[in-house]
Amino acid sequence: MKIAFIGLGNMGGGMAANLVRAGHTVRAFDLSEDALARAEQNGCTRATSIAAAVADAEAVVSMLPNGQIVLSAYTGEVIGHAPRGALFLDCSTIDVATAREAAEKAREAGYEMVDAPVSGGIAAAAAGTLTFMVGGSAEAFARAEPILQAMGKAVIHAGDAGNGQAAKICNNMLLAIHMIGTCEAFRTAEKLGLDPRTFYDISSVSSGQNWSMTSYCPVPGVGPQSPADNGYEGGFATELMLKDLRLAMEAADSAGVTVPLAQRAAALYEDFANAGNGRRDFSAIITSL
Ligand code: NAD
Repeated sequence: MKIAFIGLGNMGGGMAANLVRAGHTVRAFDLSEDALARAEQNGCTRATSIAAAVADAEAVVSMLPNGQIVLSAYTGEVIGHAPRGALFLDCSTIDVATAREAAEKAREAGYEMVDAPVSGGIAAAAAGTLTFMVGGSAEAFARAEPILQAMGKAVIHAGDAGNGQAAKICNNMLLAIHMIGTCEAFRTAEKLGLDPRTFYDISSVSSGQNWSMTSYCPVPGVGPQSPADNGYEGGFATELMLKDLRLAMEAADSAGVTVPLAQRAAALYEDFANAGNGRRDFSAIITSL
């Protein structure tokens, strides 16, 4: 299949390489010369603009920083420039309202579009083991699924346009909160004289058990390998977690839901990031408690 790929950064670079490996012809565009050069090394063809990349594409995949950039790329250079019938897949993490607006604009112009944000970081993007949460019609999902499968280990239909983004930010809102709760529990246990490994052995089979503890433990040397064992490098950056939390709070606000724990968590991650820790893994917040 001829696929245009827009945004070949940390995530998009690995994802585009996996599309090439799956036998697709990938025409890539990014504003960054370095990103384009890496994409070329991975078997993509370089395009000179978004419009040129999508000109003969059967599908367009984007992995961009935010909703404003996604919307202006689609309305400016994708819609009306891609051939009629091309499928659009936006894998960026963006706000629900903008995802729905982009899908609606695409639909009005006769294209199908899905929002397909991912769970999993740079390593999963490179390994092709991302999880995709997909919003769009059943027909659009059926067309998107085989393309996404080449880049991931799970592809789940979350409902209509925007629902992929809703699933992503609600999931990360919960993760942001239970990571801080897990950090507080480990710190308190330690100060009360419990060895962190002993607390892990007990809590991981008791009612405090959760993913932040058993798959991503914030304490080094406890549980399976996690960024804590690597000096909190190479995981999910605190600034990216803050981005997702802000999107979640914005969406909750527009839906009339109060989220006091998410607000508190965002304030704590913000203080942590402002103290020079924005690029460290978000579980490093334990070092501030
Ligand atoms: P990144 O900054 O490494 O990559 C974004 C790329 O988009 C850059 O190469 C940039 O040059 C390019 N770009 C920006 N504006 C452009 C435009 N108008 N036209 C073409 N290219 C343009 O970011 P990333 O870490 O790859 O993240 C991409 C998306 O994936 C974000 O929405 C992020 O929230 C989401 N995400 C990231 C992670 C992660 O661990 N990094 C995990 C899950 C989801």
